[in-house]
Amino acid sequence: MQKNLILYNSLSNKKEEFKPIKDGKVGIYVCGPTVYSSSHMGHARSAIVFDVIVRFLRIVGYEVTYVKNFTDIDDKIINKASELGVDSKDISEKFKQEYIEDMRNLGCIDPDFQPCVSDNIDGIIDLISRIISNGFAYESNGDVYFQIDKFKDYGKLSNQSTDSMLTNHRIEFNPNKNNDLDFALWKKAKDDEPGWESPWGKGRPGWHIECSVMSCNHLGKNFDIHGGGRDLIFPHHENEIAQSESINDGCFANYWLHNGLININQEKMSKSIGNIINIRDALDKWNFNLIRIFFLSHHYRTPVDLSEEKLLEVEKSVRKIVKKINTQGNNSGDKGFRDLWKEAMLDDFNTAKAFGIFFKYINEGLINQSNIKEIEEFEFVMGIKGWREIFINQKENINEEMISEIVIKRNNARKDKNWKLADELRSQAESLGFILIDNKDSTTWEPIDQ
Ligand SMILES: [Zn+2]
Repeated sequence: MQKNLILYNSLSNKKEEFKPIKDGKVGIYVCGPTVYSSSHMGHARSAIVFDVIVRFLRIVGYEVTYVKNFTDIDDKIINKASELGVDSKDISEKFKQEYIEDMRNLGCIDPDFQPCVSDNIDGIIDLISRIISNGFAYESNGDVYFQIDKFKDYGKLSNQSTDSMLTNHRIEFNPNKNNDLDFALWKKAKDDEPGWESPWGKGRPGWHIECSVMSCNHLGKNFDIHGGGRDLIFPHHENEIAQSESINDGCFANYWLHNGLININQEKMSKSIGNIINIRDALDKWNFNLIRIFFLSHHYRTPVDLSEEKLLEVEKSVRKIVKKINTQGNNSGDKGFRDLWKEAMLDDFNTAKAFGIFFKYINEGLINQSNIKEIEEFEFVMGIKGWREIFINQKENINEEMISEIVIKRNNARKDKNWKLADELRSQAESLGFILIDNKDSTTWEPIDQ
């Protein structure tokens, strides 16, 4: 088969053939979390998307270097620490460890390098000094700002004029800046804030500079793929480009990949709405394989609407599929499955199409236990190794006592007209593999897939 890899490059806004800088090798940098609170399902989606991209690149033969950073110095971390009266390092370390655990629990492979800002202060000061010497930044009252009107390509990634940046984005106004769009490379520290000595006094790095430094450290000043969520395109990624390209003649990252964001029950996920779902809470309720299958059955660039009902739907179809893998007769021989799903992935990592092909083949009885190697390869790339066992075991472990208890509670809830509880009990039964049937006076149950 071996067709070429095509990917959608946010920098050109079109699909392009992927050409690595070095034959057979790929360097990929993905922006990681700011570690000031528990990670949520938005982080989970981005991590799963890039995990599968790295796995796939490796399986088609590339030697991949995968880098993801931790932002462990940031105003949000400092504010949280002062709120709680603790050291900001305690906050960042706690949530960094939590994130590493969450990623492993989601079945993501560890990146090859996971650098932190706090370990790169010297490199950051050095890069800022070079940007100033090249005439692209200025010092002002202990802060250092990048002067965007010096960089003629500013706006090339987000594809917008400076006027639209000013009207469409929240810009920090600060009397130290020459231009409202200039952004901080270095921020002066207040007396009670953490800071590092620098040629401009005690301070800390601005947010964007770290990624220019850490990507270059591990992948070189020009590398293949830069990834992250869509929300990072402006200002973060735009600013990374400006910083890096102001000191190098060539291009920073050749291909920019951005995953779509998630909504919760059709609403934007946000602190102000209060609908943020942490990865830990989701994993208490749902098996990680199910979360992966749910996200990967969408193309990585599209938005995803996450809801309990949708996860239940996925769970129902997954149960049926597992049953088919295990009950179909022998159907050995190459039916083209491997070529087809890989072709889907070579076309801008279309996991949604690849899963569609996978489920169709199983439904039609074309792949089952007799071609388990093909199934296992697909499972490896999607990171869902073990999903079959989990759904089989779950079903075997259910005893009738559990479901009878739910039915009794639900009968009482219906009598009391407590519809909320009644609904919750229905979801509970469904997650155990049973459907509740409401009769006139009482409720009975049946296994979902019979
Ligand atoms: Zn970044």
